[in-house]
Amino acid sequence: MPKANETILEINLTSLEDNYHYLKSKIKNETKFLAVVKAFGYGSDAIEIAKNLVALGIDYLAVAYVNEGVNLRDAGIQIPILVLHPQPINFETLIDRCLEPSIYSPNICKQFIRVAEQKKQIDYPIHLKFNTGLNRLGFLRNDIDFILSSLKETNTIKVKSAFSHLAASEDLSEKEFTENQIQNFKTIASELTEKLGYQPILHMCNTSGILNYPEAHFDMVRCGIGLYGFGNSKKEDINLKPIATLKSIISQIHQIEKGETVGYNRAFKSESFLKTATIPIGHADGISRSYGNGIGWVTIKGKKATIVGNVCMDMIMVNITEIDCQEGDEVIIFGTSPSATEITASIQSISYELLTSVSQRIKRVFHRN
Ligand SMILES: *Cc1c(COP(=O)(O)O)cnc(C)c1O
Repeated sequence: MPKANETILEINLTSLEDNYHYLKSKIKNETKFLAVVKAFGYGSDAIEIAKNLVALGIDYLAVAYVNEGVNLRDAGIQIPILVLHPQPINFETLIDRCLEPSIYSPNICKQFIRVAEQKKQIDYPIHLKFNTGLNRLGFLRNDIDFILSSLKETNTIKVKSAFSHLAASEDLSEKEFTENQIQNFKTIASELTEKLGYQPILHMCNTSGILNYPEAHFDMVRCGIGLYGFGNSKKEDINLKPIATLKSIISQIHQIEKGETVGYNRAFKSESFLKTATIPIGHADGISRSYGNGIGWVTIKGKKATIVGNVCMDMIMVNITEIDCQEGDEVIIFGTSPSATEITASIQSISYELLTSVSQRIKRVFHRN
């Protein structure tokens, strides 16, 4: 790649492809692959990621909200799209754009049927979400009779899949809890299938579920973070490649004398001479203020430059006293090394949060190896 001359997020599509093939190798050939591209494809670019994955042969896409699905349809993507957390206000749009809702409560079920009836739908595909322990969204087992009686009264909807979501698939100390969730889902799925009289697609695993619970792959897996290059463990991070590299440049270098201060609120007071570099990226771009005052760092010429003072909206200042660098030199915020996982550890956060925080004003640049 040519040197960055402004802040950019580089997306390596070869790494995306490699991650996909690795994750595919973990599931049976007949198991369907759903790629999660919510939140702008985990902060990268949902459309570009989706197009590349469709070309690789994925079966399904998922987003969180209806507008995210609309963007994919506007870009010409035609494969089925599951909307994980739709709101009733958007049900008409959802149907108009052939998006498929997760139906997660009796209230949502009733409201969706009402809209589907108004729009004269027949057998509109829906996905029933069951709560098996995450306690976030989903029906309980004892809602099955309500669901069945709702389905009996209408021919507008048809259950295409039934699914649940694991609460701690990455945490092997919670194995017993996870196995209990899986068992719970099996019980729900068999009761539902028996009462429906046909077999919906069953799915439960996110990335860490794919890697840690092969017995729970069912008919389809829902993969997000793994495609973007993170395995939620040291062991699996080795097998995956972060697709996104956040790069910037040095805008200006300052010589700070002993006793001077740097940045807003004069948060940094110099105790000896130092050199700082100002970098055009700030908290509006996803660099949380929590990284300020020596907590976070960037990489310049392979060396760590820690953040000096408070993170500004559009800039950070970093300590380059010991680094031989010039204005215009490249700066790495995260990428393959240091990865988003390493960077976020300093503020007790996770890769997911940093990736999805990269602001939309930062240009995405795509490349292959
Ligand atoms: C975001 C999400 C996923 C993807 O999880 P990863 O850990 O990123 O693989 C899967 N299922 C549901 C319901 C989600 O909300």
